[in-house]
Amino acid sequence: MCAPSVLHVALAGMNRREALHFAVGVMAGALASTGEKTAAARPTEETPPDPRPIPRPPQRAIAADTILDLTHTLTPTFPIWPGNKPIALTNTSTFAQHGFYANRWDVGEHHGTHLDAPAHCSADGATVEAIEPASFIAPLAVIDLRERVKNNPDAAVTVDDLTTWEKRHGRLPKGCAVALYSGWDQHAGDAKAFLGTDATGTLHFPGFSQDAAAFLRDERDVVGLLVDTLSIDIGATQEFPVHKLWLGAGKWCVECVAHLGRVPPSGATVFVGTPKVKSASGGPTRVLALWS
Ligand SMILES: [Zn+2]
Repeated sequence: MCAPSVLHVALAGMNRREALHFAVGVMAGALASTGEKTAAARPTEETPPDPRPIPRPPQRAIAADTILDLTHTLTPTFPIWPGNKPIALTNTSTFAQHGFYANRWDVGEHHGTHLDAPAHCSADGATVEAIEPASFIAPLAVIDLRERVKNNPDAAVTVDDLTTWEKRHGRLPKGCAVALYSGWDQHAGDAKAFLGTDATGTLHFPGFSQDAAAFLRDERDVVGLLVDTLSIDIGATQEFPVHKLWLGAGKWCVECVAHLGRVPPSGATVFVGTPKVKSASGGPTRVLALWS
């Protein structure tokens, strides 16, 4: 576990003070997981004591020289699924009038950089609040698909792409998350390009193939998938086979991730800061990558 004093923030998205708070939070979480008492671990009126033992993830040192925000800023113009309403903020308090600033949000659960919980595509899948929190901190493997995407927006990660990554970087680590880097985040300011909508209304953007997702589910120990496109399925699908296969296995995914091109293909750790709304199928999510 890293000490806050050695944290060096090299990239955008977080200043030193924020990073320090973040590191303290990580360390508080680590203390809680080893059973030491912390203020954060004490039950409150809203959170009754949980008699279950705190799960112990496999011990791992988390490198944190660099912290990179993989989250798009969510605005009313951020590309979303056709037919959805964009996020709307209604101001409820101003500092000048009320002494504090606050808004009310109207936002879909699958807007912006967001989590899909298993319940999104499986009848008995976990909703957001029930997902094992240890799975949200994971070694991150980044699969670079940019070459194939250049001439084919319907390109998908194959089993071959995954085994090629393993030849270079070793077997996918236990409990890891696997990210598709297609370079699609560069289109986030242009909804038509991001969705790849053709004349028939069919969408075109890269994703994971069904075979690759089945390989990661059955042959490797992978907690989640991340993509820099709108969906883990390619845009042209009508059936969403990867969503059904992956979320049906009780695993999570994060869609519309940013800046994967700045993350090393191997050696980073991803933190997925999900909302904890009861019965939610997902939600806008802050995603960070750490490495040194
Ligand atoms: Zn989604």
